[in-house]
Amino acid sequence: SDSILEVSNLRTSFFTDDGEVPAVDGISFSIKEGEILGVVGESGCGKSVTSLSIMGLLPHPQGKIVGGQIMYEGKDISHLKEAEMRKLRGNDLAMIFQEPMTSLNPVFTIGEQLTEAIRLHNHMSKQEQNNRAVELLKLVGLPRATELLKEYPHELSGGMRQRVMIAIAMSCNPKVLIADEPTTALDVTIQAQILDLMLKLNQETHTAIMLITHDLGVVAQVCKRVVVMYGGKIVEEGDVKDIFNHPKHPYTEGLIKSIPDLYSKKDKLYSIKGSVPKPGSIKKGCLFAPRCDYVMDKCKEQVPELLGSGHKSRCFLHQDEA
Ligand code: SF4
Ligand code: MG
Repeated sequence: SDSILEVSNLRTSFFTDDGEVPAVDGISFSIKEGEILGVVGESGCGKSVTSLSIMGLLPHPQGKIVGGQIMYEGKDISHLKEAEMRKLRGNDLAMIFQEPMTSLNPVFTIGEQLTEAIRLHNHMSKQEQNNRAVELLKLVGLPRATELLKEYPHELSGGMRQRVMIAIAMSCNPKVLIADEPTTALDVTIQAQILDLMLKLNQETHTAIMLITHDLGVVAQVCKRVVVMYGGKIVEEGDVKDIFNHPKHPYTEGLIKSIPDLYSKKDKLYSIKGSVPKPGSIKKGCLFAPRCDYVMDKCKEQVPELLGSGHKSRCFLHQDEA
């Protein structure tokens, strides 16, 4: 197949004093070579845990993959040894986070941090490392690279720091870049610039990108395909255009209505009523039922399956179409 990453029936749990708490509950999706896939949902839906599972970065020992497979280039990486996983992270898979979480080390210059990343996967002379650092800064749209290399993180704006983080992530020429809320901490203008940069990187380097966000508006700007997660499960999947034009799950409908509209006169943003259920707290029926405007009797008893071809949804309202 042309999938570079294929997740099937992945289940990830956290083991706490209260026992096993499922965070990702049997999800399947794939990322094709060179594509940008959006993964969207509110916090607590399992999207970050999905990415940490793929990267082998689950908190140890509480977080564990308890089922399913993560196939990377045809090989299951869900239970690799840490040394092998580290190799994969240094060469094939890279990740960036929301800006504050990724804070660069304040005591080292941008140049020191970038060349350290370059050294990890290349044998190069000092001069070559420096040239590569300059090249990477250009790739991420940072001008006056030579001066920048001598500066410290605090001398940069939030947007510039995120660009440096992207440069570090790109230093290994990854085949897949996982970006978890990369623009959430940035203001709207800078957010748009970083999203443009992701598009440009994808076009120039053909790195596949998995873009994780709570904001469907962000997905609309850069992704062709999107997976919507709720309660550790995928509730809708399909082409971004189809999903915007004809959402097939009430949760997705709510997310679309919650997209901040720059030009809207409304002073209050729409938000989906209620909150995300605690994992495992709903024992039967549709996980979205307590928040759903369309809830029917059977929704409280039976669990809808993810059905459809191409455009899939997990909702009884749309199962006749599937
Ligand atoms: Fe709402 Fe029922 Fe669809 Fe669940 S299955 S999203 S409760 S209509
Ligand atoms: Mg998250």
